Amino acid sequence: MKLNGNYSKLEESYLFSTIARKVSAFTAAHPNANVLRMGIGDVTLPLAPAVIEAMHRAVEEQAHRETFHGYGPEQGYDFLRESIRGYYARRGVALDINEIFVSDGAKSDLGNILDIFDTDNTVIIPDPVYPVYVDTNVMAGRKIVFLDANAGNAFLPMPNGQKADIIYICSPNNPTGAAYTVEQLREWVAYARKQGAVILYDAAYECFVAEPGRARSIYEVEGAEECAIEFCSFSKTAGFTGTRCGYTIVPDALRFGGVSCNKLWLRRQTTKFNGVPYVVQRGAEAVFTERGEEQIRENLAVYRRNAKRLSDCMDELGVFYTGGKNSPYIWFQCPGFEDSWKFFDYLLEQANVVGTPGCGFGKNGQGFFRLTSFASEETTADAVERIETLLKR
Ligand code: PLP
Repeated sequence: MKLNGNYSKLEESYLFSTIARKVSAFTAAHPNANVLRMGIGDVTLPLAPAVIEAMHRAVEEQAHRETFHGYGPEQGYDFLRESIRGYYARRGVALDINEIFVSDGAKSDLGNILDIFDTDNTVIIPDPVYPVYVDTNVMAGRKIVFLDANAGNAFLPMPNGQKADIIYICSPNNPTGAAYTVEQLREWVAYARKQGAVILYDAAYECFVAEPGRARSIYEVEGAEECAIEFCSFSKTAGFTGTRCGYTIVPDALRFGGVSCNKLWLRRQTTKFNGVPYVVQRGAEAVFTERGEEQIRENLAVYRRNAKRLSDCMDELGVFYTGGKNSPYIWFQCPGFEDSWKFFDYLLEQANVVGTPGCGFGKNGQGFFRLTSFASEETTADAVERIETLLKR
């Protein structure tokens, strides 16, 4: 018996454990300090009432023989897939219901999709980025080529001629908050089609896109349905981080060597996945109702106001940053520090504010720092005041 040796090639991530250790050492030494946590990537507002009510109703259905639901369709109930189809249609993207697969979140699908691709493929991954893309490909033993995102390209790298089979795009990006325009994505789509590559487009933060011209879906670019798979999530849109629901779009037109990726993914899902709980899918359906949308808009407005406070603060300080406008993340160059961890210590000790060192997301993150807008409005306002006072000195 041999284990998968690729696991030994994974780099251990000490990012969040090191942050936790440093914060607990600091609070042990300063028990009266009011530490503000601005590094969290999880949402803090509860589920919308419309979602909760729908889930309660669904639980009640499960309590009676006449309305009970057992195994559901692996790719999701039609009622939810129809709602997702409608959501895209309102943004001008026409999908067939069979192109929509409901999942237990974007993270699982981003990892699982690799089942349908050969290991002998070259993968392009931007650096810095959400670490799941790198780790899932290392586990499978694929060759990875990194694409530099940096201040020079406003953390939105463009095709550079590199030969690639699988291309990851995360927009709006975690951790940089940078979001591609439709025009920029057009270049990526042309590049992928020329190379015969597939784009894996992570749209987990699409609901934060606010500026005109920035893309919320790669399918806003014509031809993308022939080269791209899109992953999306209810996590940040509707606070489903603990409830778990997402969806993946695999267009019918996406074919390699005449073989349909949609059919392969359907086969994969029906074999290895048994669907998302009925109760959760009813909750997710409610996200797209008029009431649901209105309530969720209010929650998102809180995060957006926080993000604006943070980006205004960076403007005020004259610090280079990306994000904040189309994203819950603000990514900035550590003023006066080349090392993200040294800046982390400085901010913790001098302002009692916790953020996330950029170097934890890839080599190009060194010297950068991520703050998030998911804390309460009060905490965010306090953090902004402290950061301004400290960095203006
Ligand atoms: N994609 C990105 C870029 C993320 O930052 C996250 C979570 O933080 C996810 C996907 C995971 O989403 P989900 O909760 O749907 O698994």
